[in-house]
Amino acid sequence: MRIVVLAGGIGGARFLRGLKRAAPEAEITVVGNTGDDIFLFGLKVCPDLDTVMYTLGGGIDEERGWGRADETFRVKEELAAYEVEPTWFGLGDRDLATHIVRTQMLNAGYPLSAVTEALCHRWRPGVRLIPMTDDRVETHVVITDERGRRAIHFQEWWVRLRASVPAEAIVPIGVEEAKPAPGVLEAIAEADAVLLPPSNPVVSVGTILAVPGVREAVAAKTVVGVSPIIGGAPVRGMADACLAAIGVETSARAVAEHYGPELLDGWLVDEADAAVADEGIAGIAVRSRPLLMTDVGAAADIARAALELAGELR
Ligand code: GDP
Ligand code: CA
Repeated sequence: MRIVVLAGGIGGARFLRGLKRAAPEAEITVVGNTGDDIFLFGLKVCPDLDTVMYTLGGGIDEERGWGRADETFRVKEELAAYEVEPTWFGLGDRDLATHIVRTQMLNAGYPLSAVTEALCHRWRPGVRLIPMTDDRVETHVVITDERGRRAIHFQEWWVRLRASVPAEAIVPIGVEEAKPAPGVLEAIAEADAVLLPPSNPVVSVGTILAVPGVREAVAAKTVVGVSPIIGGAPVRGMADACLAAIGVETSARAVAEHYGPELLDGWLVDEADAAVADEGIAGIAVRSRPLLMTDVGAAADIARAALELAGELR
């Protein structure tokens, strides 16, 4: 069985760990979001690709959910001592090695997809991890603060401001000109099912779908999604602030309707949202299940339910 998953960071990575356990024989291709990527101190940082790679490869800091286990922040402290900005992004010493290798390979002319494959040679995530594109796409957020109306990098809004200033618009800069990375459209075309993990519907899954050609390719397949919203709130993070920016209510129903029946065939909601399954959503098969990924076993149960629903709908 061939499965494609469109993944952001934490929600995507934890779901994938469950999927690997639920379907050990499956060939899993992960199309990773690169809209969160940022250059820091001359280094190319790909937070979502790294979260997937570290989580599946056993190198993640479980508690934080991002970055390396057993991490130290000496370099960050030294940079702060030089008063070099930005000081708000958590770059760990171990993590820095990944960004150095990546940047060195990019500077030598390798595309990000080849670099990611090389990094995965160490981590052996057990899935094929492909960035959504080799082209530069950077999500920016339009805000108004004491300096007026301006666009800032998504990471500055998310990490420094903790999404406390309303986003007037969220713009994946460069996405219209981006081409899917080699293998992305092929993997989708050959997939028995495409799964949308409980990743951020706007800045993770939404950005991947915005790469020209991807939405159409996905829509042609059997697609089952898992709601990142439970009982009207994100499980983790500030996805509600992203949904507000695009005028979508923070609810399991509204997110499914935002993806729409042209894209989505099946949708898993939490038991707290069982009413959505009872009432139904036009054109989308909805089931309620416990959706908290409290451990790998719980994530595997969710992945199994998604695969079962995909099997029914295929
Ligand atoms: P990020 O790039 O690290 O922000 O991660 P993703 O985009 O992959 O996922 C973020 C989303 O995961 C958030 O909107 C959370 O609500 C969702 N999420 C995190 N943990 C869980 C969980 O245990 N269950 C569900 N259903 N969603 C979760
Ligand atoms: Ca992310």
